[in-house]
Amino acid sequence: MSTPLDFSYETRPARVVFRPGASVTATPGEVARLGLHRVLVVCGSRGEATARAVADALGGDCVGVHAEALMHVPVEVADRAVEVARELGADGCVAVGGGSAIGLGKAIALRTGLPLVAVPSTYAGSEMTSVWGLTEHGAKRTGRNLAVLPRSVVYDPELTLGLPVPLSVTSGINALAHAAEALYAPDASPLVSLMAEEGVRAMAAALPRVAAAPGDLDARGRALYGAWLCGACLGATTMGLHHKLCHVLGGTFGLPHAATHTVVLPYVLAYNASAAPGALTALSRALGTDDVPRALRELAATLGAPQSLAELGLKEADLTVAAAQTAAQSYPNPREVTANGVLGLLTAAYEGWDPRSEPSP
Ligand code: NAD
Repeated sequence: MSTPLDFSYETRPARVVFRPGASVTATPGEVARLGLHRVLVVCGSRGEATARAVADALGGDCVGVHAEALMHVPVEVADRAVEVARELGADGCVAVGGGSAIGLGKAIALRTGLPLVAVPSTYAGSEMTSVWGLTEHGAKRTGRNLAVLPRSVVYDPELTLGLPVPLSVTSGINALAHAAEALYAPDASPLVSLMAEEGVRAMAAALPRVAAAPGDLDARGRALYGAWLCGACLGATTMGLHHKLCHVLGGTFGLPHAATHTVVLPYVLAYNASAAPGALTALSRALGTDDVPRALRELAATLGAPQSLAELGLKEADLTVAAAQTAAQSYPNPREVTANGVLGLLTAAYEGWDPRSEPSP
């Protein structure tokens, strides 16, 4: 007998425009729809040329380009950006780039209430969530606030043509992680689960094509479509052990965001599998496999992604600390999270063992 349906579902007030070339052809219209005439464009230093093209398209409706976004939004960087927005009399913000640039746009929106338009250039998914993050004294604080949810998201596959293959692969698997955890989230619901399954299917099919031909606009479009769906799942549900563990590994040990998600995901899914059979079935369908953790690890390996936390620079002595920190926090997860359990899966991920094998002999 199946379990009776029991869920809540809330649509978020976000608008999405998806089209090759949209960063320059659609952003001005999105800004105009919001009645904005003095937007500040924010980006990271590497994304400045792209952001300037967007600013040029905005013409007189853009008051400046602030190219100072950094990973995990250090609080001083946010303070400075808010100051610049105020000095220039900005009435809105357009964030162009990956999760770091969009994170800076969110920090401005959080402090000033200015509306945000996001033009993402990676698959991280921040543009679809009301989650903000700020880093101070080495610790990252996060929270949810509808004020930071972009009013409009402009997806332009052409922007992602230059995303290097290694980052495309890890960023894509980072997106898969959002969908995977949405499938077993306590606030999962049927529509979000459909988006999760389709997001995984689209992204997993697109990544090998992107790796083989990074300039293939159709493959890039399919990957970005998957990223949108996976990002929407992230925005709609509460994440579990995987995201918490990656947050600890990134925040406390400075491991790179997308690569850490890529290494850890198969091990967390192996850990949670017995407690989340429905999620694993959906992932099996999407990936066309009966062994989800192994298939994900093979996907990453075939596409040249890192295979172990040791490769990412974690030290063996860090494992116990990371396990204790992860187990000490409270968050929903289908299987009970214990320090020993996390240590087992972390050890396997550190060594790069087969995710189905027992973590220690
Ligand atoms: P990122 O924005 O730091 O980008 C990674 C690197 O790729 C940067 O050097 C950037 O300049 C470069 N890059 C970005 N787009 C490019 C392109 N198209 N071509 C060439 N280079 C490009 O990293 P990310 O993985 O996109 O985002 C990670 C950050 O976002 C983390 O801080 C994470 O915590 C945050 N995040 C937040 C949420 C949320 O809901 N708040 C969701 C996901 C991620």
